[in-house]
Amino acid sequence: MKHTIDTRCVHGGREDFATLGVHAPPIDLSTTYPVADLAVGTASFDALVAGEASAANPIYARLHNPTVARVEQAIAQLEGAEACVAFGSGMAALTALLMASRPSGSHMLAVRPIYGTSDHLLKSGLTGLDCEFVRADEIAQRIRPDTALVLIETPANPTLDLVDIAAVVRAAGTVPVVVDSSFATPILQNPLAFGARYVLHSATKFLGGHGDVIAGVIACAETDAKPLRTMRAATGALLHPLAAYLLHRGLSTLALRVERAQRNAIELASRLQRHAAVRCVYFPGHGTVRNDALLKTQMRGPGALMALDLHGGHAAAATVMRAVRLITPAVSLGSVDTLIQHPAGLTHRVLDDAARRECGITAGMLRLSVGIESVEDLWADLSQALDAATAGSRLPEAA
Ligand SMILES: *Cc1c(COP(=O)(O)O)cnc(C)c1O
Repeated sequence: MKHTIDTRCVHGGREDFATLGVHAPPIDLSTTYPVADLAVGTASFDALVAGEASAANPIYARLHNPTVARVEQAIAQLEGAEACVAFGSGMAALTALLMASRPSGSHMLAVRPIYGTSDHLLKSGLTGLDCEFVRADEIAQRIRPDTALVLIETPANPTLDLVDIAAVVRAAGTVPVVVDSSFATPILQNPLAFGARYVLHSATKFLGGHGDVIAGVIACAETDAKPLRTMRAATGALLHPLAAYLLHRGLSTLALRVERAQRNAIELASRLQRHAAVRCVYFPGHGTVRNDALLKTQMRGPGALMALDLHGGHAAAATVMRAVRLITPAVSLGSVDTLIQHPAGLTHRVLDDAARRECGITAGMLRLSVGIESVEDLWADLSQALDAATAGSRLPEAA
């Protein structure tokens, strides 16, 4: 019987517990495993280096770890994927995917905006792929015989722009599409169902959910997972089993956390829109983000991230960052607690001015990641911080 996603959050990756006679995921910290039977050891080594998900003997922790394998299993189930491969960070996951795509060509396409460091990595050419940034509606005409990959992020970081996954998949033809779905989580969106070949998550964010794990995952078909495991084993971009344990523990409350944080975000977005300091709230469903209508067809809810553009520009944004008391002024997102940060000054600092303008990232923009606190406590803190910004921006006129 196929369980609902809420049940899968709680029970996924725990299939071997009855056999093991345990109730919580065992943490296997072994770096090496005894090879008493050399024939079995050799066959296992060959299988794992070739990217098989498991073997009779794990051999060495860079090739396989059962604690990591369990959380991969759980996330694969949440994305409706055959497989999932976990890495030491979201950036390690993206790097492995780019490097693994290299045999299909040296060109790739990406639609901005994307996470600042992803933008930086793609632009750097470090992975051997020459990335061309295009609009979603230009993809079909920009695909070349040597295009190895198309990357999109939806909702996009930090503007919450939505990108039509199915349309991008159609435009890309036979070229694989990867969707960074970190903002949506598997609770609100399953990109593979729209034809994407890979879904990538910075598991550091909602999947871990408590601000204490750095991790990245890619969910995909088993045939596509093999080269990623080979890449991980070769480059050592591992997820440590202790981090895998915390990630697995965080997953069990994912549906609850996303539901509650989203409920808070919906309420805050409508109140923020009416605050005098706020020029615009970018939040799916408010008619302010690109392709807003996709919220209804591609997602199961708007999520818990929003961007605010303040009338007072950079100074007002800096005032809010300084004035918040309950909310933490910090980068990252998707934690149980609410975070606010300034994309132009922090996460998207690495973009040049033209790219930031093209992405709609203004000096007065703040990105808010709403947590699971009481919405009234959050509003009290936000509104006093915004009041301070309003007062600040009026000072020059008063003077
Ligand atoms: C944070 C983030 C990443 C990078 O993930 P790390 O775990 O920090 O390496 C990639 N994409 C998005 C959308 C992110 O928010």
